[in-house]
Amino acid sequence: MREIGHFIGGKQVKGTSGRAGDVFNPNTGEVQAKVALAKHSEVEHAIALAETAQPAWAAVNPQRRARVLMKFLDLMQKEFDTLARLLSSEHGKTFADSKGDIQRGLEVVEFACGIPHLLKGEFTAGAGPNIDLFSLRQPLGVVAGITPFNFPAMIPMWKFAPALACGNAFILKPSERDPSVPMRLAELLVEAGLPAGVLNVVNGDKEAVDTLLTDPRIQAVGFVGSSAIAEYVYATAAANGKRAQCFGGAKNQMIIMPDADMDQAVDALIGAGYGSAGERCMAVSVAVPVGRKTADVLLEKLVPRVESLKIGPSTDAQADFGPLITRAHLDKVKSYVDLGIKEGAKLLVDGRNFKMQGYENGNFMGGCLFDHVTPDMRIYKEEIFGPVLAVVRAKDYEEAVRLPSEHEYGNGVAIFTRDGDAARDFINRVEVGMVGVNFAIPVPLSYYTFGGWKRSGFGDLNQHGPDSVRFYTRTKTVTARWPSGVKEGAEFVIPTMK
Ligand code: NAD
Repeated sequence: MREIGHFIGGKQVKGTSGRAGDVFNPNTGEVQAKVALAKHSEVEHAIALAETAQPAWAAVNPQRRARVLMKFLDLMQKEFDTLARLLSSEHGKTFADSKGDIQRGLEVVEFACGIPHLLKGEFTAGAGPNIDLFSLRQPLGVVAGITPFNFPAMIPMWKFAPALACGNAFILKPSERDPSVPMRLAELLVEAGLPAGVLNVVNGDKEAVDTLLTDPRIQAVGFVGSSAIAEYVYATAAANGKRAQCFGGAKNQMIIMPDADMDQAVDALIGAGYGSAGERCMAVSVAVPVGRKTADVLLEKLVPRVESLKIGPSTDAQADFGPLITRAHLDKVKSYVDLGIKEGAKLLVDGRNFKMQGYENGNFMGGCLFDHVTPDMRIYKEEIFGPVLAVVRAKDYEEAVRLPSEHEYGNGVAIFTRDGDAARDFINRVEVGMVGVNFAIPVPLSYYTFGGWKRSGFGDLNQHGPDSVRFYTRTKTVTARWPSGVKEGAEFVIPTMK
């Protein structure tokens, strides 16, 4: 059985805790590797090496640091397909979707190559008599990233690329369910010229995370995962004096106005609702047609599309989506479908009994579609994270703005309409962090920032874009006066600019 250890001090090392987790092949349900779960002292060792390596890395000039990332981009291009296949084999998403996962990560690495520009401070010559005032952006030191299973390439890159470009050392704690790609990313960084110890990967579970959250040498924690854990990580990191940004779960809605291009809306819903088996934080899980007629037209087109979704193993190039990450998660998603029926929603398409021929033990299910879901139901309130779409019928536009605004999650939302006035009003009023107009998955590009509101994001700065530089640096402001020409005596009042 393949064993996955940690990446510490510039090389792969074996785990010493005696504890290991199963890494499944979601297509077959078989255990394909064992991943070491780090104990407290292994994480402490990684932090110590990072702390030793960080000052020299911070002293490398910003352009040279960026060049390491440029070289990493090169190496990634050479290994793109191999990595995508590895990613699919542990996650279960299709090869094409795995390539998208890697690509969206690389785009943030590209952004980070330009970070020297954003590290420039401010300068005011002559802010007072013989006084110059300026600010510097300095790295924090050793920072940590804790990432989820659903984007095992993209989210680690979103975290470490800006952090490293800013001169920090980094400890990555990836998901224990698909750790192989993050391990390879670390190797490629070292191959690209990153000094040993600047980035370390510790595999593990709560024990590893808690060590990162409480160790005083960790200055900042970036987390992505479910909301309950995001909130715990945020509270614990903050209580231990750390900077923290923690992104959580979602229940993204797509509003379909009566004037929308219905074919475009259905295409968008199918892709955003069922792509990656719904295991995306920006998946659309609620469709909100406005008015009865809109709902009827939408469902007439949508039902046959959901019924004809092509499910297949992650190796099938024709598949729309593959298996879910684990058997336990598959059971959880199916139990939500059972619950929806009990709550009184109408199940129009039932994918619970889907069996994948030749892969009977894989974590497969078909697409499910509910109509007449109401805001009091748990299948509306809670994140299901599977190929299950709920239709909530809104009687008018006002109700359609209220639904996502009043939902406890606020990651993404979309409106499909040809009415510019309605779209503009929606953009201004909806209480959600990322908005799409005739665009179902509004993940901003790398030079903007990504982040949800309410229980989808804890902390005040977003991921990537300029916020990532603010998060991974601290500002030092300097007031400098040179002695020549200064004739003031002792001053006992606070200096002002009268
Ligand atoms: P998860 O919360 O189970 O795990 C995330 C990370 O936290 C993993 O590294 C895991 O090992 C660690 N962890 C799990 N339990 C822990 C505990 N009790 N104490 C400390 N650490 C713990 O999430 P997941 O299932 O891997 O990922 C899916 C979730 O991530 C979904 O809720 C999805 O919406 C969310 N997500 C959010 C975004 C975003 O940007 N908002 C992006 C991707 C995924």
